[in-house]
Amino acid sequence: MHPPSKLSLENVSMTFQTKAGPFEALAPVDLVVEAGRFISLIGPSGCGKSTIFNIVAGLQPPTTGRVLIDGEDATGQIGRVGYMLQKDLLLPWRTVLDNVILGMEIQGMPAGQARDRARPYLARYGLGGFENQYPSALSGGMRQRAALLRTLLLKNDVVLLDEPFGALDAQTKAQMQEWLLKIWADFNKTVIFVTHDIDEAIYLSDEICVMGTRPGRVVERIETPLARPRPRSVVVEPTFVELKHYCLGLLDPGTEDKRLDAAA
Ligand code: ADP
Ligand code: MG
Repeated sequence: MHPPSKLSLENVSMTFQTKAGPFEALAPVDLVVEAGRFISLIGPSGCGKSTIFNIVAGLQPPTTGRVLIDGEDATGQIGRVGYMLQKDLLLPWRTVLDNVILGMEIQGMPAGQARDRARPYLARYGLGGFENQYPSALSGGMRQRAALLRTLLLKNDVVLLDEPFGALDAQTKAQMQEWLLKIWADFNKTVIFVTHDIDEAIYLSDEICVMGTRPGRVVERIETPLARPRPRSVVVEPTFVELKHYCLGLLDPGTEDKRLDAAA
């Protein structure tokens, strides 16, 4: 297994040319994610979270700035990071096992070898016995696990997860969070996770990156002062609750105006 990679965004901004004129979706962002860290991006709809992911994944050239992986310029390069969208995008005509190996196959690994590599993980992640079934036989949580496994089996050391659990019910989501932490420990990856759920962000992450809108930008980065492994009861610990309130304050669109009022 490779060591995880360090990801850096240097002065990355995005201005879309629209019919109504230029639209600044993302003000310049500088962000360093050290190798092996798990960070979450939270922020209102439209603050540029997916835009950052599309830029890091090389799908969207930034208007300014560079993306570096382990200090090497990777701007605009597709295939350098693993990227999983909210929708699981399993192919209905491929078995679960063959869906899980899809990314490895695309990266050039022969199918037989990829299947051998994937099989033990299917069992470990609650998909044992479903190898030869089709995605239609899986529950929502199982589909997300298969999609997550597919992303994490890639040789990429940086993984972008865009609201992967947004559509799941609370109990399935809690289980998925446990899977994800287990997988993260197993695979030794650098993870950037987007969520609307502040509890989820705090529970999972080493660091929360709070974003704001107009234009999209990073408002504040906060270390999560919670030891690992974290019991689920951590959510009622004072440190957790305080951090949650602090994040909510940063996300409340009224907060900024109130601060300005207070300063006036
Ligand atoms: P988020 O993922 O945080 O909800 P996005 O990154 O998807 O936000 O979008 C940021 C802003 O950029 C939004 O206002 C969105 O409408 C706008 N935007 C995204 N893609 C385009 C595009 N191709 N052309 C014009 N505007 C875009
Ligand atoms: Mg988005």
